[in-house]
Amino acid sequence: MTKNESKTQTEKMTYNYHTHTYRCRHANGKIEEYIKRAIACGVTHMGFSDHAPYICTNGVESVFRVPVSEVGGYFSEISALKEKYKEQIDIKIGFEMEFYPRHFEKMLNDVIEYGAEYLILGPHYIEEEQPSGVHVIQKTDSVKRLEKYSNCIVDGIKSGVFTYIAHPDMINFTGDVEVFQREIRKICSAARECNIPLEINFLGIRDNRNYPNEAFWEIAGEERSPVTFGFDSHETVDAYDEISLVRAMEIVEKYNLNYIGKPNLIMLEK
Ligand SMILES: [Zn+2]
Ligand SMILES: [Zn+2]
Repeated sequence: MTKNESKTQTEKMTYNYHTHTYRCRHANGKIEEYIKRAIACGVTHMGFSDHAPYICTNGVESVFRVPVSEVGGYFSEISALKEKYKEQIDIKIGFEMEFYPRHFEKMLNDVIEYGAEYLILGPHYIEEEQPSGVHVIQKTDSVKRLEKYSNCIVDGIKSGVFTYIAHPDMINFTGDVEVFQREIRKICSAARECNIPLEINFLGIRDNRNYPNEAFWEIAGEERSPVTFGFDSHETVDAYDEISLVRAMEIVEKYNLNYIGKPNLIMLEK
């Protein structure tokens, strides 16, 4: 048996910093049930990272994130459970947030003010979703969009406030392969230089989405970028996802990825 084979068989997840709640309006179940499921499956370090509240420049509030009016409830509800289960599991409360260059200073100030302990960068939109933003999961062959996407992630990595980059391979680029590789290499080399992990996202595996994108992970392997895993739980059962774990480990082995396991948390300070 090779070293890699034994690793596949024994690998367990004892951490997960990518968990959503019903407050984003597209996740389900009681928060306590997510925690119980995680504990039952051996998770010792868990983070809630629901979509950070966001009001667009035109005044329209984002509809798939925690509403500003519920931020207090988000923190108080999870804080009470964090205390209740503290002997069994270490829980952190943060957000998954975009990196919008022109708005980032305010975005960061806001989430720190709300009480976020940590952040993960989730690049879903390149520009604000209102009034005319397009989700990065929509197919595109625009080099300009790809360049904006990679630049945003690189700047997000360099900001030093994100614990890791969620689904860095979400963009659904259908254009020139060499252009894709060039832009992805920027992300992967910045991740290595700044030691910020890139996440293999288990929701993408569960839902059979366009990510994990192997063309991305091939470059991450060449660049020796640090790699971590995230369940991206939107249902209580996904507070542990052992089925997708098998697939994620296959990708790690196929591309000889620098899988670091649990990421080092970058804690925010008020
Ligand atoms: Zn979500
Ligand atoms: Zn996301």
